[in-house]
Amino acid sequence: MNEQQKKQMTINIEPSSADKKSEQKNKDFGQYFQTTYTQPSLKDAKRRGKEDVQVHYDFDIPEEMRGLGNGKKFLVRTYGCQMNEHDSENMAGILLDMGFEPTSSTEDADVILLNTCAIRENAENKVFGEIGHLKPLKIEKPGLVIGVCGCMSQEESVVNRILKKHQHVDLIFGTHNIHRLPHLLKDAIFNKEMVVEVWSKEGDIIENMPRARRGQLQGWVNIMYGCDKFCTYCIVPYTRGKERSRLPEDIIAEVRDLARLGYKDITLLGQNVNAYGKDFADVNYGLGDLMNEIRKIDIPRIRFTTSHPRDFDDHLIEVLAQGGNLVEHIHLPVQSGNTEILKLMARKYTREQYVELANKIKEKVPNATLTTDIIVGFPNETEEQFQDTLSLMKEIEYDSAYSYIYSPREGTPAAKMEDNVPLEVKRDRLQRLNDVINELSAMKNKQLEGTIVEVLVEGESKKNPDILSGRTRTNKLVNFAGDRSIIGEIVHVKIIEAKTWSLNGQVVENAEVKA
Ligand code: SAM
Ligand code: SF4
Repeated sequence: MNEQQKKQMTINIEPSSADKKSEQKNKDFGQYFQTTYTQPSLKDAKRRGKEDVQVHYDFDIPEEMRGLGNGKKFLVRTYGCQMNEHDSENMAGILLDMGFEPTSSTEDADVILLNTCAIRENAENKVFGEIGHLKPLKIEKPGLVIGVCGCMSQEESVVNRILKKHQHVDLIFGTHNIHRLPHLLKDAIFNKEMVVEVWSKEGDIIENMPRARRGQLQGWVNIMYGCDKFCTYCIVPYTRGKERSRLPEDIIAEVRDLARLGYKDITLLGQNVNAYGKDFADVNYGLGDLMNEIRKIDIPRIRFTTSHPRDFDDHLIEVLAQGGNLVEHIHLPVQSGNTEILKLMARKYTREQYVELANKIKEKVPNATLTTDIIVGFPNETEEQFQDTLSLMKEIEYDSAYSYIYSPREGTPAAKMEDNVPLEVKRDRLQRLNDVINELSAMKNKQLEGTIVEVLVEGESKKNPDILSGRTRTNKLVNFAGDRSIIGEIVHVKIIEAKTWSLNGQVVENAEVKA
């Protein structure tokens, strides 16, 4: 992309006079997106696989932008999934390199970025609420830069709404434009105009962006971006672009770096990590191969999320079965326990195939713990079909699950289906599902009473500073008494008491561990 093309993709709107404001209110802002953005379209999106993936190693912050933040503070507020959390770490890294300092107070901030989630309507409503709350602050402090980024910015309807109704926002940029932050921020600061840059160009990987990681024990490493699964309810393939895998050598170098820095628990990230490597044209290299190399790195715990059942292959199971630093916790979203609903969702597996996979994992990976995601109230879901979801929960015996009410997302195939399950029925199903999830979680935790587990000590418990808390290899929260000097260490803890969502225990020495 040349400079001229990039310029065309930046929309500057001057919200200075009342006249201009009313003119803008009546304007169709859709025209600005002709080169930058198209409404989610399954047909168009499916064609994108043919485009080449470009890996860029030349990210740089121009010298004149490096001091731009001197004496100023920033706040990045993150909504949604780990992918967004990790993107926020990149944004924070860029802002620190530009001279900004972090703050957790909106009043102190000179730049506020809202890194948004589009997965469900209530996630979007929260963000619009926050945009509204920030208006008085912007009036009080006109120099404040308010930016909206992340998945919502990739939606034309969202950008139009901000342009029309929230002109105190200074900057909107998309998920493919994070590396452009220094330039966009400079424009937003100096031009005093609303800057919008949302690319539909989605095939690139930017390798060397700075990163300010939030923790010093647990770290995220992207292994791939985007999603080509196109589940009928999901907006992600449109907001995050096509599946593209980072090169193994870049991932391994990053994990080694984290090991050297003392990180103890690494999560490999992607929307559909089991599709890792499918986009490599010249080599046959998948997630199993990558995990097999990463397990040789001296780091105590390696996990990955999120897995799509369809691409979970036997080679990966064989590699995971070797244990060691590859933890036995697998998040395997099923979405529904009914084959008809799974078909409507385009998940491309049946209930029976899912059960077979889950059983194979449990059989081959010692002490494997499974967790999942469920959507209730998908169009046409009957009570009987919902009962299939409840029975699947009990059959698999998940340790925990995230449960959601179906939310139609504009432009997705499911949004064209009639959203015909009444809200009160959806709520009732969610409640009954959560009751089963809680029962299972309590039961699985109870099984751990009397056993000894390996715990990575994270810090003081949120509820009681005299108590430490940490996580097992399977991500269960454990509380126990201990000296603060063991924070950051991996210790053995005997489980004394199981609760629904946590475990209480006491530290033991020289113990044999059950994960
Ligand atoms: N890629 C992952 C997968 O396939 O499981 C996770 C994607 S998404 C960030 C996390 C979860 O949000 C999904 O597993 C699904 O349960 C839920 N979700 C996605 N779209 C939804 C929608 N339109 N309504 C309700 N829940 C949704
Ligand atoms: Fe969305 Fe996950 Fe399906 Fe991809 S695999 S479309 S991210 S639910």
